[in-house]
Amino acid sequence: MSLSPAKNSRVPHIVIVGGGIAGLAAAYRLEELSREREQPLRFTLLEAGDRFGGVIATEQRDDFLLELGPDSFISEKPWALALCRRLGLEPELLGTNDTRRATFVVHQGKLEPLPQGFMLLAPTQFGPLLRSRIFSWPGKLRMALDLVLPRAREQSDESLGSFVRRRLGREALERIAQPLIGGIYTADPDQLSLAATMPRFLHMERDYRSVIYALWRASRRNPQTTRGASGARWSLFVTLQTGMQRLVSALTERLSLGTLRQRCPATSVRYQPAGPDETRWTIGCANGSSLHADGLVLATPAFAAAQLVRGLDGALSQHLASIPYSSTATVNMAYRRDQIPHPLNGFGFVAPRVERRSILAGTFSSIKYAGRAPSGYALLRAFVGGALQAELSERDDAEIRALVRTELRQLLGIEAEPLLTRIARYPQSMPQYRVGHLQLVDKIEKRVAGHPGLALAGNAYRGVGLADCVRSGEAAAEAMFDECVAKPL
Ligand SMILES: Cc1cc2nc3c(=O)[nH]c(=O)nc-3n(C[C@H](O)[C@H](O)[C@H](O)COP(=O)(O)OP(=O)(O)OC[C@H]3O[C@@H](n4cnc5c(N)ncnc54)[C@H](O)[C@@H]3O)c2cc1C
Repeated sequence: MSLSPAKNSRVPHIVIVGGGIAGLAAAYRLEELSREREQPLRFTLLEAGDRFGGVIATEQRDDFLLELGPDSFISEKPWALALCRRLGLEPELLGTNDTRRATFVVHQGKLEPLPQGFMLLAPTQFGPLLRSRIFSWPGKLRMALDLVLPRAREQSDESLGSFVRRRLGREALERIAQPLIGGIYTADPDQLSLAATMPRFLHMERDYRSVIYALWRASRRNPQTTRGASGARWSLFVTLQTGMQRLVSALTERLSLGTLRQRCPATSVRYQPAGPDETRWTIGCANGSSLHADGLVLATPAFAAAQLVRGLDGALSQHLASIPYSSTATVNMAYRRDQIPHPLNGFGFVAPRVERRSILAGTFSSIKYAGRAPSGYALLRAFVGGALQAELSERDDAEIRALVRTELRQLLGIEAEPLLTRIARYPQSMPQYRVGHLQLVDKIEKRVAGHPGLALAGNAYRGVGLADCVRSGEAAAEAMFDECVAKPL
């Protein structure tokens, strides 16, 4: 199929700023649409850093496969899985090792298993809950009160902290919801918007009053949900055999209708109304060059997009700048298996804030996924920082290494020096969806709609996970295609 333009017609040009997964997914979707609809276009992807993928980064070191950023994506939300399939990566997908699916919670300095049937913030089975050492008897009874408590009078956005305290009590919040859900967003649960992060819990209260009852019903309808599986074919969390970076390389290898530029931060964007043969957007780059485009996708963190649109739309810029971010660091450590006394009989653990540990969570990476460590060795990964312990991720490498070693000694009994340590910092990487986030995003989207040929994508808006970021990139590409390519300019 030839995509060459008809004589004298100008090929529409889309500029994408930001080469993380959202920007890459946008570029790939543009290519797909161009081919499917046989309508030519070209794009330029500008990335500030010296590599693509944003926070996704996999490293191979001495037969260990280290994930510095995300280690998997959720299969329940279809977009990342579908993208992998379209890229021909299905044979390389890797599910979790489900014989070891347990998750532990640090309780009084020890790892206790999360009671079976516990779904993020509430139990669906009472036997395991009653036997669990994580909660006191008054805490367990308070949780059960959810079954009889009335609905909230108002069904508006509320923080995770307020919702869980109200329905299930303080212990359910402090011991489980804070480290599990707050941990995903590296957020303060008293600031985190439930509507923007876990709306289904709000819907459960609205529809069934009791969260425990609603979860129990859901688990009866689909028993796989409580076991952590999302479908017959794939486990809930899925990765790629050679790591998440493979998704990035598969995308960059297949992009052929455009130009990918690394070390090329966009510094300004300007709009001018244009006639049919003129472009509308001028994008200034740090090297002094500028690009002209019909459509512009900003797939950067919100604070970077805020800078870019400051001269274009002050209110939009302010809204974008008001989304706060937290910083985190990951610490991969490799050991000989016989240096770890703990049985590593699970995927890892979370550390509630009330335990006052210096790590947020630990993953038993080589247990969770095959191929992460050679036989006889183990790879572990710890998370440091987040909204509640911001300063820890800013410490120097020696300090971070020492504090993670102390935690692993106390929690897993590891005395040995790690065979290798890899610390990766992610400053200002995790947008904080505060109460009212969805209203803020509505305002942002309204203002964006007032600028022809402009779209936003990325983790700042409607989901931080890779699957949501893929969806947001693809939606931005589809909007730009409809506006700038399918319709006459
Ligand atoms: C440590 C960590 C672990 C995670 N684990 C998981 C996980 O296991 N599963 C999961 O689903 N999600 C996970 N997440 C979340 C998920 O990985 C991210 O939300 C997602 O990758 C963000 O993608 P993005 O494209 O929106 O942004 P980013 O990856 O931040 O990419 C934005 C890009 O824009 C570039 N940029 C910024 N300004 C400019 C400019 N002016 N000009 C040009 N380029 C610019 C940046 O350099 C960057 O490359 C994790 C996140 C972190 C930090």
